[in-house]
Amino acid sequence: MIERGLLIVLSGPSGVGKGTVRKEIFSQEDTNFEYSISVTTRKPRAGEVDGIDYFFRTREEFEEMIANNQLLEWAEFVGNYYGTPVDYVEKTLSEGKDVFLEIEVQGAVQVRNAFPEGLFIFLMPPSLSELKNRIVTRGTETIEIIENRMKAAKEEIFLMDAYDYVVENDHVEKACERIKAIVVAEHCRRERIALRYKKMLEVD
Ligand code: 5GP
Repeated sequence: MIERGLLIVLSGPSGVGKGTVRKEIFSQEDTNFEYSISVTTRKPRAGEVDGIDYFFRTREEFEEMIANNQLLEWAEFVGNYYGTPVDYVEKTLSEGKDVFLEIEVQGAVQVRNAFPEGLFIFLMPPSLSELKNRIVTRGTETIEIIENRMKAAKEEIFLMDAYDYVVENDHVEKACERIKAIVVAEHCRRERIALRYKKMLEVD
């Protein structure tokens, strides 16, 4: 029987750099988890490709996915829907592969309820001023959206308690190294692997 993969959830406040960290992790050759591409109703940014960065859908299409229980979690964030297709996650975990979600905090709470055995990592900004800097220098948002995102971020930091690990995103490469180290350690956690070795004793 194939052991199920690990569901890894990277979340944290808006603008902390979840997307950048995720892209860096997946650009590295030794990364051996699968990225779950989200569905969104947000318009593609310059350079974003449907089916690679997101599945870009209309609000009607998204609401249909909600109604048909096709999403493991979903949230409305700064005026747009974002969600995780459940079929891909289930199929990939049952193939024994680790699945990596990079999602905002409301969605992470839903995943925690559905998959308490998942690995929940909270990405933390070094400071609030640094967080604002990052949102501003991204240059893709209006002043109103920046203010909304800062307000949301402060509320989101309080949700840290629901996570297993906190990783500061001081440097992208260091944050990635810490995340990968956490995943390796998590695979060695006794509760996850004890059964495998007990079965080995039964065979002998
Ligand atoms: P952006 O519009 O900058 O790509 O993403 C905005 C926020 O939505 C980010 O915090 C990102 O992590 C989050 N996000 C991306 N995909 C999903 C998803 O499938 N579910 C949830 N809940 N949040 C998501």
